[in-house]
Amino acid sequence: MTRMPTIATLGLILLVAVTPLHAAIRVVTTIEDLATLTREVGGDKVEVEALARGYQDPHFVEAKPSFILKLHSADLLVLVGRDLEIGWLPPLIQQSRNKKVQEGAAGYLDASLTVRILEMPTGQITRAMGDVHPLGNPHYWLDPDNGRRVAAAIRDKLSAMSPDDTAYFASRYDDFDKRLAAAAKRWDALMAPYKGLKVVTYHRSWPNFAERFGLEVVGYVEPRPGIPPSPSHTLELIATMKQLGVKILLVEPYFDLKTPQSVARNTGAKVLVMPPSVGGEKEITDYFTLFDYDIGLLVAAIKETGAH
Ligand SMILES: [Zn+2]
Repeated sequence: MTRMPTIATLGLILLVAVTPLHAAIRVVTTIEDLATLTREVGGDKVEVEALARGYQDPHFVEAKPSFILKLHSADLLVLVGRDLEIGWLPPLIQQSRNKKVQEGAAGYLDASLTVRILEMPTGQITRAMGDVHPLGNPHYWLDPDNGRRVAAAIRDKLSAMSPDDTAYFASRYDDFDKRLAAAAKRWDALMAPYKGLKVVTYHRSWPNFAERFGLEVVGYVEPRPGIPPSPSHTLELIATMKQLGVKILLVEPYFDLKTPQSVARNTGAKVLVMPPSVGGEKEITDYFTLFDYDIGLLVAAIKETGAH
């Protein structure tokens, strides 16, 4: 379980860690993808730190005392939302004792509010059932169009916080938008030959990516998002994959490979460890290299397996 410092220790740490007033807007983001988008728009007017690392499961991040310190001195918190961070973030926000970043405050930006959300639940789904996607799929940043929408929301928020820099943020956003459009054209072209390719993924991390790049996700190693594989579900999955001739099984870097490897042995599919976040591999240093890396990996695997 997570260890939290007592109020007294925290107070002591704060005394020594307190930083002098700084002109830059101090931004804390929950995941590295949001940090890189904030840097794109904020340039040298922001100081950005992410809490979770890109190789960690963003649903289940081990909270560290340092997270509370970061939140304590933040002007702005940018989070994924849709309950992605609900298992670890709310107590940290509370313990930060920073009024600016409390939910609903001016320094609290839920990046999911202006993006395209897939897999909105139709019935009554609660976390009590173990489903970690009760408010729609929170892995929305894996479509470049959503990355652009997040960047626009960050531009608007930073401009509201620092109106004198509005033109600066607008021009940085426009530049990002142009580079992203050019890169997305390239990614679309690389993936175009494989439209309709059937894949299986471990967790439901990829619906936006699949929609954007024409993949069809036909099954999951997890019976429900956040629920570990079960023998009966795995048998069904193997049958589905054999029936549909699925050759690629995408696994996020933070999941145990035992079940995927067993599925692969039984189906002849290839297990492909594909990072869904910036920082998931050392080459993935920003939003652009995230798609460069993943699409490169995927295209190589498609060619290798003759999946298409
Ligand atoms: Zn998830």
